[in-house]
Amino acid sequence: MIQNQKKFKNKCQLQLSNPFSTNFVFKFYFYFMAGIYLHIPFCKQACHYCDFHFSTKLQGKADFVKALTQEITLTQNYLGNESIKTIYFGGGTPSILSLGELENIFEALNENYSLSEVQEITIEVNPDDVDAEMLIGYKKLGINRLSIGIQSFDDGHLKFTNRNHQSSQAIKCVKDAQDAGFDNISIDLIYGIPSPSHAVWEKDLATALALEVQHISAYCLTIEPQTVFGKWKAKNKMTFATDDFEAAQFEILLENLSAGGFEQYEISNFCINEKYALHNTNYWLGEHYLGLGPSAHSFNGQERRWNVSNNNKYTAAITNGNLSFDKEQLTERDKANEYIMIGLRTKWGLNLGILAEKYFTPISKIEKYLLVLEKKGLIVIENNIVYLTQQGKLLGDEVSAELFI
Ligand code: SF4
Repeated sequence: MIQNQKKFKNKCQLQLSNPFSTNFVFKFYFYFMAGIYLHIPFCKQACHYCDFHFSTKLQGKADFVKALTQEITLTQNYLGNESIKTIYFGGGTPSILSLGELENIFEALNENYSLSEVQEITIEVNPDDVDAEMLIGYKKLGINRLSIGIQSFDDGHLKFTNRNHQSSQAIKCVKDAQDAGFDNISIDLIYGIPSPSHAVWEKDLATALALEVQHISAYCLTIEPQTVFGKWKAKNKMTFATDDFEAAQFEILLENLSAGGFEQYEISNFCINEKYALHNTNYWLGEHYLGLGPSAHSFNGQERRWNVSNNNKYTAAITNGNLSFDKEQLTERDKANEYIMIGLRTKWGLNLGILAEKYFTPISKIEKYLLVLEKKGLIVIENNIVYLTQQGKLLGDEVSAELFI
C-alpha cells in the first residue's frame, strides 16, 4: 500500500502537456451557469428503441402548453438569482410545437426570467417536422442551435427503428437549416443497429461529415425492456448486435470523426471548433438547472427533483396551481459519485483536486482503485486529473462504478 501511494503521488505530480490544466477546468467550471430544460412530451409515433417520456396522443398539446407556461411562473424562484445561460427544448419532439405555441412559451420565460445573458437556445427537431419557414421562425425567436434527430441515413435502418422520416428528409433538413442561417447544428446518430457488416454505419458517418454540421451525438442502441425492441428481445423475436459488434462500431466512430476534424469531448459527443453543447456541458459539469414539463428533472445543488411522468396528471396538477414532483436530497456521497461518473465521461476528466475540495473526497479514498484501473489501461492520470483511455471509454460505466465512494 505504501509503495502504491508513492507511485500514485509520483504519477500525479507529473507535469504533462495537457491543455486542460486544473486552472482551465476551474475556470470552465465556474463559467457556466444555470440552464432551463423544457420537456415537450409528444411524438407523432413511437420509435422502437425509445423509453423517454412521450405520448402519441396529440390532442392534449394545447392544454400542455398552457400548463407549461403556468409551471414557468410557479417555479420562477427555483434557481434563486442565478443567471440563465442556456435553454433547451427536448422531448419527446419539440418540433411538434407550432411557432405560436413556442412564442407563448418564450413569452412566459421572458416574463419570469432575465434572459439577457442566455448564450444558447437549442431545440430538438425531427426532420419530418420542419420546413424553411419554421426554421426561419425559430431564428426569429432567438433559437440559435438545432439538434436534429437523424439517427441513420439508411432508409432500412430508419424503418427498422420505426423512425417517422426518410434519409432524404434528414439531408434536406440539415441543408434548410444551414440556408436559414444556423451555424450551430447537431445531429444525433445511432450505432449498434444489427447489420451484416459495418458498411451502413461507415456510410452514415461519411454522410454526416459531408453535411458539415458542427456537432454530432452518437449513441449505441440500447434495448430497454418497455420498448418494442425490449419486448422482441424478451420473446427472442430477433437477434441484436453483440458487444464486439458495438465496440467495433464505436471504434469506427472515433476513427472517422477524428479524421473528420471532430473532437470527442464526451463519450457520446463530438464537435468541431469547440462548438460544445453548452447546455449539456453545464449539466456534466455539475451546474444547476430547472426542468419543466412532465418527467423533467431539476437540480439546484442540494436536491434533485423530477416531475410526474404523466401528461394528464402533470396538466391537471398545474391547472390547479400545484406542482407534481418527487425529490431526493443529495448526500455528499451522491454528489461525489455523480461527479466521478460525469467527470470521467468528459474530456475535462475527473479532477482529483475538485473531488477533494468540492466533494470532500480525498484521493486516499479511491487511490487503490485508481491504481488497478490504471494498470488495466482503462485510465490515465495526468496533472491530478483522471481520464478514460480509449479502452476505458468502452467500459465507462464500469470504470465509474469501480471508483464510486
Ligand atoms: S426517439 Fe424521439 S421521436 Fe422517437 S419516440 Fe423517442 S422521443 Fe419520440
